[in-house]
This record gives sequence, C-alpha cells and structure tokens, in this order.
Amino acid sequence: MRPPYLLLDIDGVLIPFPDERGSTPATHARHDVVPAGRNADNPVTVWLNPDHGRLLMDAIRTGLVTPVWCTSWRQDASTLIGPLLDLPALPYVDLPRPQITTSHPNGYLWKRDHVDTWLGDAPAVWIDDDFTDLDHAWAAERTARGTATLLVQPDPHLGLQPDHLTEVTKWVAQLPAARAA
Ligand SMILES: [Mg+2]
Repeated sequence: MRPPYLLLDIDGVLIPFPDERGSTPATHARHDVVPAGRNADNPVTVWLNPDHGRLLMDAIRTGLVTPVWCTSWRQDASTLIGPLLDLPALPYVDLPRPQITTSHPNGYLWKRDHVDTWLGDAPAVWIDDDFTDLDHAWAAERTARGTATLLVQPDPHLGLQPDHLTEVTKWVAQLPAARAA
C-alpha cells in the first residue's frame, strides 16, 4: 500500500481564527504576506506558530505520509506560508475558486469533491477545521471500502495542537504499509 497523503489546511489549522476580542494565541507570530495576484502594498496579515513547522517536519520525516497542501491558499501555501514555518516546498491540491458564500454549499466541505477526485483510491489523513458530519461519513465510507481515511479537525480558534499530529502518526503507524516497513 502507498503511504497515505497528509492533506493540510491552513486557515483555522495553522492560522487560528481570532477570538471575539480579535486576539490570537500567544504562541503565534505575526507576518505580512502578499498572495499571488495581490498588490504588494496590500499585504495579508497572518499568525503562525513556529512550533508547527517542527511538528509537521517530525511527521513528514517518518516517511510514512506524503504531505500535500489542501487550502484556499493553493500555491501560496507552498511559496508563502510553508517557508515561514521552515517547511520545504510541498505539492498542493489545485482547488477551484467556486463562487460560494458558505464553506458547506451542499452540507459538506466545498473542497471534498475535488479532494475525492484528486485522491482516487489513495489512503489519506486530512487535517481541516471545517468538516461536517457528512464529511466524517464520507471518511467512514472510504475506510469501509478499504481506503484508509482519517479526518482530524482542530478547533479553528486554537488551530493545530501537538495531539493532532500524535493522532496522525499513531494512525499511520498501524496501517499495513507502515507495519510492512
Ligand atoms: Mg480551514
């Protein structure tokens, strides 16, 4: 079996949502970035936790997952966000830009149909803050069909926690490919 993909969201995972007072966790440092196509004098402020780079690299270095960005940052994930966390250039799922006003236009995460096609029958662990019950049902159905699928869902106000990556590495380690290695 191939190593599972590790699909990584950014907003609500690496960049936490501010609380009602507009504050972000003290663990996170401020950066101003200029996404592709945006004017240089109109940067976007992001908050990132330098520990996340180290935690993600620990998971990546096991060689038991294939990391891929899966975020509306698209290629900017690899060129702008990753380097701020000392991450190497990683591939990304080239998500479309649908005209939607909710992230769940059909009751489930808008990315999912594209991810489902992109993955084919590849196993995957997907970290995103925005899954619904229908997404969890999708993951359960894939797993039942023999395609190991794990969804990890951080609280968007807290973002990724060390426990989430512990869950990922434990889950990956019990898959047949990891046990064979
Ligand atoms: Mg998100």
